[in-house]
Amino acid sequence: MGWLRNWRRRRLARGRNLPALAWSYAEASLPGLRRLGWQERRQLEALAVAFLDEKSFSGVAGASPDEAQLASIALQAVVPVRELGLDWYAPWRSVVLYPAGFVATHEYVDDDGVVHLLEGPLIGEAWEGGPLVLSLEDALRPAGAGSCVVVHECAHKLDMAQGEVNGLPPLPATLAVEVWARVFQQAYERLGRYVETAEAGEDGGEGGAERDESLWLLEGQGATLGQGLGTLDGSYGSGGNGCGRRCDRDNSSIAAFDPYAAEDPGEFFAVASETYFADPRRLRRAFPEVHEQLRQFYGWELPSGRGGMSHRSR
Ligand SMILES: [Zn+2]
Repeated sequence: MGWLRNWRRRRLARGRNLPALAWSYAEASLPGLRRLGWQERRQLEALAVAFLDEKSFSGVAGASPDEAQLASIALQAVVPVRELGLDWYAPWRSVVLYPAGFVATHEYVDDDGVVHLLEGPLIGEAWEGGPLVLSLEDALRPAGAGSCVVVHECAHKLDMAQGEVNGLPPLPATLAVEVWARVFQQAYERLGRYVETAEAGEDGGEGGAERDESLWLLEGQGATLGQGLGTLDGSYGSGGNGCGRRCDRDNSSIAAFDPYAAEDPGEFFAVASETYFADPRRLRRAFPEVHEQLRQFYGWELPSGRGGMSHRSR
């Protein structure tokens, strides 16, 4: 049982409950939480209490999160590490909260040695060895179904545990690197083709008719995937230590996809992880093999938030 490894964490958790509102906020992004049993909820609460104790939170640009809001972020953050263990987050300590989407400017060098400036707005960032940066508004009220910026950024942190952000976190012995790499690469390339075709369609080309039908399932969060992938286009080029999610709220159009979208597997892993917990059915239908790899990696899954499972909380 990796959820509470040491005595200190167990002692901290005893007798401490999170505010009910923390669950409501978290359930907005992760609807499957509603369907967990009492014991599973208790486990997550205990982990969240430890997270709150071990991380430092700071509000910037006027953000002043209350106790329930901080607890909700902790709750969402511990979902990916319920079985992996909280020690996966040991390399970093700070959580920086903006009131809403924020503008960030990053410099990066592309493969040709050209320096670019990448500008926000962003709703989250994860820096290697540095803080987790989040828009409070987006962490508590997701822009759309399947979106969970907290899990997204935490997935980048897990990815970084092996150094480079490349979509390959340290894998448990039960998972083969070759299988993981093949499954993710194929899915990533398929998404890349989908993005290209969609863009051709947007430009009035013929491509729209050839869209990969099963990926239409992702359309609801099409912009989410696009934003995520789009931000990869260079943020890692300067040493692989940054990731931001664009705060483009236009979720209605595939045009939100960045032409560079298909260039970074690290972002694909983060978006797939986010969808795995926030809207598992959608990921399973679009990328069943990716879903299975993530199920084995994370060691557990949330029930689909929109019915289909008989698991009920009391
Ligand atoms: Zn990202």
